[in-house]
Amino acid sequence: MKRLFPAQATFIGAFVSDVPRVALPEVVFAGRSNVGKSSAINVIVGQQIARTSRTPGRTQSVNVIDLGTARLIDLPGYGYAKVSKAMREDWKKLIGGYLSDRPEIKLVVALVDARHPAQELDRTLLAQLAELGFPVLALATKIDDLPRARRSPTVAALAKALGLPSDAVIPFSATEKIGVDEAREAISWALKA
Ligand code: GDP
Repeated sequence: MKRLFPAQATFIGAFVSDVPRVALPEVVFAGRSNVGKSSAINVIVGQQIARTSRTPGRTQSVNVIDLGTARLIDLPGYGYAKVSKAMREDWKKLIGGYLSDRPEIKLVVALVDARHPAQELDRTLLAQLAELGFPVLALATKIDDLPRARRSPTVAALAKALGLPSDAVIPFSATEKIGVDEAREAISWALKA
């Protein structure tokens, strides 16, 4: 079997409404704004393909990345405080709309910040994903910011708070490349790639 990662990735486009369907399995990345989603995508794909933004809340589009045999869907980051209520509602619609009608989705990678307890919006997303029946992998991002001894207990606490089995939460760091191989393997497995 040909290895998916590092992938030969191409940016397909940024969509603000309906994302065109193609007959390819999809892996979706979702998480709060500034959680480290773009950095995680770039290090997992092995290419600077997702924009890392210094203005959280700026990306309001569903970004589609072609991986050859699959597609990576980068959902807009949620929960940025300084946006209008209307904008937040638009995000909800865009994210909810995407997730509710997409049999192509084989895995949702939910990113949560390891430096903070699970947030209300994270729990809402995870509950929604469970209800929709998607397989979920969580990445506990920026784990490098935690002393080593705090890492396992933090991951266990996050798993519990999010209602996930503890092996579904991977300690992750884009900067120190922690958990990258595990994430790649889990994604490849889910995509059967
Ligand atoms: P996004 O808004 O979720 O796409 O997040 P970005 O990837 O743009 O990262 C947001 C901020 O978190 C930036 O300042 C990054 O430098 C920082 N960041 C991203 N990944 C890591 C990581 O693995 N460790 C640490 N310590 N910081 C990170």
